[in-house]
Amino acid sequence: MRYLLGLIVIVLLAAAGAYVYAGGLPGPAIEIARPVKYVGQSTPVEVVVTAPGAHLSDLTVTFEQNGKQTPLAALAQPSSAKFTQEGTDKVHVSRTIGRDVIPDLKSGPARIVVTAERKVLYGVRRVKTSASHDVQVRLEKPTISVISTKHYINLGGSEVVVYRVTPPDVESGVQVGDTSYPGYPGSGAKMEGIHIVDPAIKIAFIALRYDQDVNTPMWAFAKDEAGNSARADFDKMTFPKPFKKSRIELNDAFLDRVVPSILETTNEVNPQGSNLDKFLVLNGELRRKNAETIANYSKQSSPDMLWGGVVFHPFTNTAVEAAFADQRTYVYGGKDVDRQTHLGFDLARVVNSPVVAANKGKVVHASPLGIYGNCVIIDHGMGVQSLYGHLSSFAVKVGDMVEKEQELGKSGMTGLAGGDHLHFTMLVNGQMVNPVEWWDQHWIQDRIIRKLREASSS
Ligand SMILES: [Zn+2]
Repeated sequence: MRYLLGLIVIVLLAAAGAYVYAGGLPGPAIEIARPVKYVGQSTPVEVVVTAPGAHLSDLTVTFEQNGKQTPLAALAQPSSAKFTQEGTDKVHVSRTIGRDVIPDLKSGPARIVVTAERKVLYGVRRVKTSASHDVQVRLEKPTISVISTKHYINLGGSEVVVYRVTPPDVESGVQVGDTSYPGYPGSGAKMEGIHIVDPAIKIAFIALRYDQDVNTPMWAFAKDEAGNSARADFDKMTFPKPFKKSRIELNDAFLDRVVPSILETTNEVNPQGSNLDKFLVLNGELRRKNAETIANYSKQSSPDMLWGGVVFHPFTNTAVEAAFADQRTYVYGGKDVDRQTHLGFDLARVVNSPVVAANKGKVVHASPLGIYGNCVIIDHGMGVQSLYGHLSSFAVKVGDMVEKEQELGKSGMTGLAGGDHLHFTMLVNGQMVNPVEWWDQHWIQDRIIRKLREASSS
């Protein structure tokens, strides 16, 4: 009898010990992934709850503002919230919130509160965790209006749009079909006689890509972190441009020279087969990859207009061997083997002639770049950049500030070049555009400086 009592006591003590121990086990881990800071008219809420080794017994997500609580999701009650099981121990909760879900939603501070509970000790005990995340509700839409006038845009060409956006710190720019161009603060237009002090005024350099439709829709946009957005139209005329067609004869001497030397400088492609097979990979796949690399340099663009509104160096002492957006057909052994668009100007002078910077700016690239061979890219600010390809040598390095007409290196035939020449193009936010406009003093005055002057306060 005493033994039995003793055994019962031991079992009870063990059970009590297990009960206390289980209560000290960690509760579910809660991560409130979204929103990071702002809640607007339509904002996704994302919560991830991890409950190791056991299923969740309860999970609630609540929105709190001005003492009022609105349930957003509860495991027990099916609602508009979406619960997704990820693996064995993770639950992902998502719901989009706004005035439709929270009728009393007001601009100002608020909080998202999550509680989660999991069963331990074969379901005898439960352990609970809660987490909260402070957010800011912003219901007012940004406002945007375009203040520049007479936008004339050539296919493959550039333009400038000046607009006013409030609040000034929201993301804004100009959308041209599938491509967006960021706006930069007007104060970055540092130029003789131009002072844009209103922080609401922004400048966006835009392009109508050579391969876009001449009727591509364009508008200025603003969107804040809460998901509120606004857009504004602007007056515009667009003009188609006839692009030339040309034929390039490929021969074995050319392929045997350029294919191995380009492959030596890149590991982005690894083509097999004959030199013609390899050439087709370089001319297609590597050309596209190089275009992406080049476009990425726009992210490093200075918010200041470094070139000061001075016309770009036109390279007039050279022979134009190819123009912007020439439609090239490549021929080998009498057969058409490839088609590509040539997005730049080929300018030839004499072998190893000095290549100069088209305008003032900062060197962001000075090394081999695939089909462009030894290549320099200069940032002129606000998304405007220029590219110099096929050089034989460099006279500058990344980070150098260069003056207009400062030597960058010597011309050559590195990369995909049939002979010694400079491949030159202008870039607007990473898109290759026709340099002819940037070589034209009248175009610079009328398309860019006029609009900046109209937005200037003095
Ligand atoms: Zn070229």
